[in-house]
Amino acid sequence: MTQTSFDIAIIGAGPVGAALALALADTGRSVLLIDRAALPPMEHPDFDGRAYAIALGSRALLDRAGLWDALPFAPCPIEQIRVSDGKPGRPASPMFLHFDHRDIGDDPFGWIVEARALRMAINRTLADSRVVVHAPAVAAVKRHADHAVVDVAGHGCYRARLIIAADGRASSLRSEAAIPVTRFTYRQSAVVCAIAHELPHGNVALEHFLPGGPFAQLPMNDTSDSGDGTDVSDIEHVSAIVFTESHAIARRLSTMDDAGFTSEVARRLGDHLGAIRLIGKRWTYPLSALHAHRYYATRLALVGDSAHGVHPIAGQGLNLGLRDGMALVGLIETADDPGDAAVLARYQRARRPDNLMMLAATDALDRLFSTDLPPIRLARDIGLAAVNRMPVLKRAFMRTAMGLSS
Ligand SMILES: Cc1cc2nc3c(=O)[nH]c(=O)nc-3n(C[C@H](O)[C@H](O)[C@H](O)COP(=O)(O)OP(=O)(O)OC[C@H]3O[C@@H](n4cnc5c(N)ncnc54)[C@H](O)[C@@H]3O)c2cc1C
Repeated sequence: MTQTSFDIAIIGAGPVGAALALALADTGRSVLLIDRAALPPMEHPDFDGRAYAIALGSRALLDRAGLWDALPFAPCPIEQIRVSDGKPGRPASPMFLHFDHRDIGDDPFGWIVEARALRMAINRTLADSRVVVHAPAVAAVKRHADHAVVDVAGHGCYRARLIIAADGRASSLRSEAAIPVTRFTYRQSAVVCAIAHELPHGNVALEHFLPGGPFAQLPMNDTSDSGDGTDVSDIEHVSAIVFTESHAIARRLSTMDDAGFTSEVARRLGDHLGAIRLIGKRWTYPLSALHAHRYYATRLALVGDSAHGVHPIAGQGLNLGLRDGMALVGLIETADDPGDAAVLARYQRARRPDNLMMLAATDALDRLFSTDLPPIRLARDIGLAAVNRMPVLKRAFMRTAMGLSS
């Protein structure tokens, strides 16, 4: 039986797999993209409160994939970041760290992109592209020395020179290739929602370290639609909220009524944005991190969360996956055989240091700041204030957070 051949088959059409498929198709490669879930239901037509912080240095893959210009709602630039220490219900410590994008150039640190906007852009751009998409579909993959065979139930068998596993943290391709993984569990869940507030956010993001874990307020553009059926004509200012708490507190927060939940958010946020109200839904995610010991095997490359998952303290998970994708596009663009072992080894060498550094940094930050011991609180407050007065160190931190080499 003749099999249709593709240069590359990508399993997983999440943000990393889909963006990579589009960018690889742009280099002239033939690409097959498969997801076990259907694509249209991933597109939430209503505002649902979820957003990604996309750093300046991670935008390249979205640009190359044609997704940035296809975003239906303008992303909100992050121009300043304020890092402070505190306790719920009390004002933030006066020792803080303030980053201003103008200290290192004209570009913002990054942007807050609504998750539904990215999904809408992905679905629309894929529909107009040369990428062949099967979703929902179940694929069985067999890898050989010089090619792989992808058997897609109900659609047929395909040959590919490279399989890309973009199938998320529980990657079955990673398990089938027997690639070992180191896992870290956190006794924390992330609580995610969006709020409308009385006063403008001024494109400032806040990272407030609280004893239960970090609390982030991320500036968003108002997309004039709360999705919760309420009249939103009075909404002028909107922010995404992501914070971590123990599983028990997160469970309690997820079952509280809106008024109780909003007052818990207000206790952690402080009053600098005036009156607040919840818009969209609330989401709770148990937190964990993982790192695959290898990023490749015969005719297989791992990208995004299938290769690494980090604590969301610094909003870096998707950013790392987008940078994996860009590295792979750069290497494949100049390669004769996209699945050649030397190309895949170069990909691992290019990406592992950045990913491991971010895994270690987010883990250390979480441990350092999720403690209420007075001497440690004092030391980190002094540390924040000290770094705030060290322009060279501050610039190095800013470039790292922006995904730029320091
Ligand atoms: C609370 C929270 C907040 C976050 N905030 C940020 C942020 O601000 N910025 C940021 O950069 N990151 C953030 N992240 C991380 C980010 O969500 C992930 O890193 C990102 O979604 C990973 O994308 P991915 O495409 O690699 O994997 P996924 O999004 O997990 O997509 C995997 C895809 O593979 C499909 N799939 C799975 N198994 C199979 C299979 N066997 N066959 C076919 N298809 C399959 C799934 O259906 C899915 O579509 C956050 C995470 C959390 C938990």
